[in-house]
Amino acid sequence: MKALAKLKAEPGIWMTNVPEPEVGHNDLLIKIKKTAICGTDVHIYNWDHWSQENVPVGLVTGHEYVGEVVGMGQEVSGFSVGDRVSGEGHITCGFCRNCRAGRRHLCRNTQGVGVNRAGAFAEYLVIPAFNAFKLPADVTDDMAAIFDPFGNAVHTALSFNMVAEDVLITGAGPIGIMAAAVAKHVGARNVVVTDINDYRLALAKQMGASTTVNVAQESLSEVMERLGMAEGFDVGLEMSGVPSAFRAMLESMNHGGKIAMLGIPPEQMGIDWTQVIFKGLEIKGIYGREMFETWYKMAGLIQSGLDLKPIITHNLPIDEFQKGFDIMRSGQSGKVILEW
Ligand code: NAD
Ligand code: ZN
Repeated sequence: MKALAKLKAEPGIWMTNVPEPEVGHNDLLIKIKKTAICGTDVHIYNWDHWSQENVPVGLVTGHEYVGEVVGMGQEVSGFSVGDRVSGEGHITCGFCRNCRAGRRHLCRNTQGVGVNRAGAFAEYLVIPAFNAFKLPADVTDDMAAIFDPFGNAVHTALSFNMVAEDVLITGAGPIGIMAAAVAKHVGARNVVVTDINDYRLALAKQMGASTTVNVAQESLSEVMERLGMAEGFDVGLEMSGVPSAFRAMLESMNHGGKIAMLGIPPEQMGIDWTQVIFKGLEIKGIYGREMFETWYKMAGLIQSGLDLKPIITHNLPIDEFQKGFDIMRSGQSGKVILEW
């Protein structure tokens, strides 16, 4: 079958032919319809330090997808051939304490689809049936293809109550923008989004940010003054992984504020801890999505009218994958979909 793989230990990604994956007793065989390019795929493309340490050369990449069940192992129940599915890309062990207690997102033995094991940039994908999510008919294929990053946004945004609260989101990447849309949808008051990329800030505005701030040109504290926010933000969502953005967030929080951190800093990051201590801040790290509560929330948010369509800025046939990666790497895009 056709697949996009990391064939060489150098920047790039290559179309190749690999054998169809084998279906184990508890697995589903999924025919891939659409995939989306994740920031992680761009890291793997660029072959940065993290990729070199974690990704085996030869790996079929990709973990954002929608497809159709075309086969299954003999132990699988609850799925039928023809079901439309997306899937949780974190394969958990099932035997550690957190897994056994139902806190699968905290599994210490997680394996990543398209990172540590064969991924979804292929004609067929095999995953444990446990990881698949059957899609309601009113979730379109385009939306389903981005459930993985949408789930990062939802898991982060729903960590703390936002109703009528002032929310700061640092980083208007696809995930920060979707988080802004969720914050608006669930009834936040001010949803302020920062970035240094005007294209993305415009998209954030279109999708629910009440105010956007290009921090390369304008200071966040001035904007807060203009908005009459003397006391600071109630909730912060860190979605850039940029140390200066996180430091600005700490300074802008009200006392008792709550921060959820999704963005991954490139290395150790120093902060002024007195901001955390004297303000009594609560900080929560976010990894992946809750299995599977976040997935039900995603479907429910769309069914209750959340419109994510504008986040998909490009739709390309798979043969134009190189163009898709170039667009993602340029920063001048929301999500890029590749159709198989
Ligand atoms: P992205 O790289 O597309 O977005 C990051 C954004 O931050 C970019 O638009 C960039 O311009 C912006 N930025 C740069 N400097 C800034 C500054 N000083 N202030 C504010 N914004 C600034 O990433 P994404 O795909 O939207 O993901 C968001 C973050 O979450 C990334 O760090 C990613 O690695 C991380 N992530 C974490 C998990 C997890 O499970 N914890 C999962 C997926 C992604
Ligand atoms: Zn586990």
